[in-house]
Amino acid sequence: MDYLDLNPDLNAEQMALKRSVRQFALEVLRPAARELDRLTSEEVLKSELYWNTLREAKRLGYHTAYIPENHGGLGLPPLELQIFLEELGWGSAGFAVALGVDTMPATIAALVDDPDLNEAIITRYVEDKEANFIGCWAITEPNHGSDWVRVAADKEHQPAMQADVTAVKAGSDWVISGTKAAWISNGPVATHALLFVQLDPAAGGEFKGGIAICPLDLPGVSRGKPLEKLGQRELLQGEIYFDQVCLPEQYMVFEEDLAPNMGETVLAYANAGMAAMFTGVARAAFEEALIHTRLRKQGGRLLCEHDNVKGKLFEMFTRIEAARALSRAAMDYNMQAMPPATRYSIAAKVFCTETAFQVAHEAITLFGGAGVSREYYVEKLFRDARASLIEDGSNDLLGLAAMEAVLREYI
Ligand SMILES: Cc1cc2nc3c(=O)[nH]c(=O)nc-3n(C[C@H](O)[C@H](O)[C@H](O)COP(=O)(O)OP(=O)(O)OC[C@H]3O[C@@H](n4cnc5c(N)ncnc54)[C@H](O)[C@@H]3O)c2cc1C
Repeated sequence: MDYLDLNPDLNAEQMALKRSVRQFALEVLRPAARELDRLTSEEVLKSELYWNTLREAKRLGYHTAYIPENHGGLGLPPLELQIFLEELGWGSAGFAVALGVDTMPATIAALVDDPDLNEAIITRYVEDKEANFIGCWAITEPNHGSDWVRVAADKEHQPAMQADVTAVKAGSDWVISGTKAAWISNGPVATHALLFVQLDPAAGGEFKGGIAICPLDLPGVSRGKPLEKLGQRELLQGEIYFDQVCLPEQYMVFEEDLAPNMGETVLAYANAGMAAMFTGVARAAFEEALIHTRLRKQGGRLLCEHDNVKGKLFEMFTRIEAARALSRAAMDYNMQAMPPATRYSIAAKVFCTETAFQVAHEAITLFGGAGVSREYYVEKLFRDARASLIEDGSNDLLGLAAMEAVLREYI
């Protein structure tokens, strides 16, 4: 069973990419995610299955999808990237997000293109086939979740905040202190963080943000326990503590107001990626519903032969097609534009994650009682989709930031 790709110009290479990532998603990601979903987070952290799944992705070079070819990565263009991420999300939202944040330190290092970082970060990352180099995006703090999203999304509406994680210049180092929240995806396993900090808070004046690529084996870094949560349970998350960590100055890659420059670029990439992944989650839930309604009979007919069921399936189908189209458009524009039009990545993230949630919700309705049983995959897809409404910025807050940009700039 497959969907008709409405892009008639897909070439043989793009079709081959779609097929090979789908095969990996079907044979490796999905079975691993379903099994890991039953474990505690501590058990996931120790499980061979978790580590082998990451290693298999790295051996295929999938961690380098965003890294340009001149740095040894796959350097996928925007359409290929959307296809790739949709298939990963179709296989496992949690592993798709894990690979998405994994790449962030090296992807941003590639934008900076500093010879020291190229060797220490990008080359090591690209060549890693054993999951020895794992990245994360550490922005959320115990006291500042949406506040940080606002900082990245919107220069006009900077929240008055004293961030939890600060960096103070001392000679040629930055001294980093504070806590990043339990929500940091890959937090328990990451070797490097793309770390958002507040610079020199004692200096007063306007909030000044910085972005560092921070090795997490430096003295003074420690971690919390892996978080137990509702969905995407194959994705490990946890706190990272910084106790007077001395970071050499070349690792502070941006020292500036973060919006509308790098903070916004990171958010635009991340939200566009989420849109593609959760188009895949929506499609997975739709396919479960299709299979089930073609097999189960009620009222003397297959479920799919009842008009109200056809109506629901059609609504799901239409939303997924719209999600894919918006996801591709946002990815296409924002992976090339500098600065990006972040409001379109936000629109795509919000629409696609809400589509995933609604489609999984309707799929559960069509499964009846079986839909809430842990035996059926739709139950996991529903939990995975629910988490995505908050992930990478909660949808209502993201919508607010995007709409303020539209009100300022449109007409
Ligand atoms: C599965 C998952 C993965 C994640 N991965 C990462 C990661 O890799 N790295 C990372 O750094 N973070 C990550 N996060 C954290 C995520 O970005 C935050 O949870 C999100 O930004 C919301 O922040 P918060 O949880 O502190 O909620 P809060 O900021 O406390 O917001 C709660 C609610 O209050 C409302 N609200 C807040 N502020 C405003 C405002 N100014 N105006 C109006 N309403 C407002 C909104 O309704 C919001 O949903 C992840 C989260 C999840 C669920």
